[in-house]
Amino acid sequence: MNRLHPQIMYASVREYLQELEESGVDGLPFEVALQQSELSRGREAEQQQPAQFSTARPQTLDELFKRIGDCQRCDLSHGRTNLVFGAGYEKARLVFVGEAPGADEDRQGQPFVGEAGLVLTRLIEAMGLKRAQVYICNVIKCRPSANRNPHKDEINTCAPFLTQQLQIIKPEVIVALGTFAAQTLLENKEPISRMRGQFHSWHGIPVMPTFHPSFLLHNKENKQHYWDVWSDMEQVLRKLKLPVPEKKKRA
Ligand code: SF4
Repeated sequence: MNRLHPQIMYASVREYLQELEESGVDGLPFEVALQQSELSRGREAEQQQPAQFSTARPQTLDELFKRIGDCQRCDLSHGRTNLVFGAGYEKARLVFVGEAPGADEDRQGQPFVGEAGLVLTRLIEAMGLKRAQVYICNVIKCRPSANRNPHKDEINTCAPFLTQQLQIIKPEVIVALGTFAAQTLLENKEPISRMRGQFHSWHGIPVMPTFHPSFLLHNKENKQHYWDVWSDMEQVLRKLKLPVPEKKKRA
């Protein structure tokens, strides 16, 4: 029987483990772990070198950011100026998840810094919070050119980074901003108008879908959308057991 050279076998296993890790898998069945350790032992015997990789999931956002590095895993890498990882408090109780960076975000490397970002900042402050107290990121980390919708393979490639961010932060509540973020997190095809207004669940963490700040900007004349979003945020604040500032509707 042909036997693989230990180094070739080791490289294959390493690639497989990295793929698993990027998909959010945090453990291996005993048999696989055993095979890995046996391979490692074989390799050590051959090379007398310490292991060159870690199968451990990143424990901090900084570690994850370094792991993503100059990511070229999908075609969106070609058109970006900056990869937009996310910003805010690593131990935030509340995380806002949007769709993908826009032109301003791509230029600055920061999420929600354009006009829509201003709307989000105002909303956060109206909740009695500061941006630095929450965490803000997107499902997709690189800007799709001409603001096209990300392709399915791009979403599948990038979404595990969001999963790992959320696993590190462990927020008490997630706000999904807009259809794309809500559908990706909740793995459904429901319109945002049907999802918003009630909590859903992402791995046991309550998720409140609400309208995207860009949608509010593009529909300024319809004040009801603002009140719908505010009503969603009132529920979020209650879930977090935080005071709910009183807002009065102007006639
Ligand atoms: S969109 Fe995500 S997967 Fe694609 S290149 Fe950017 S960081 Fe990598």
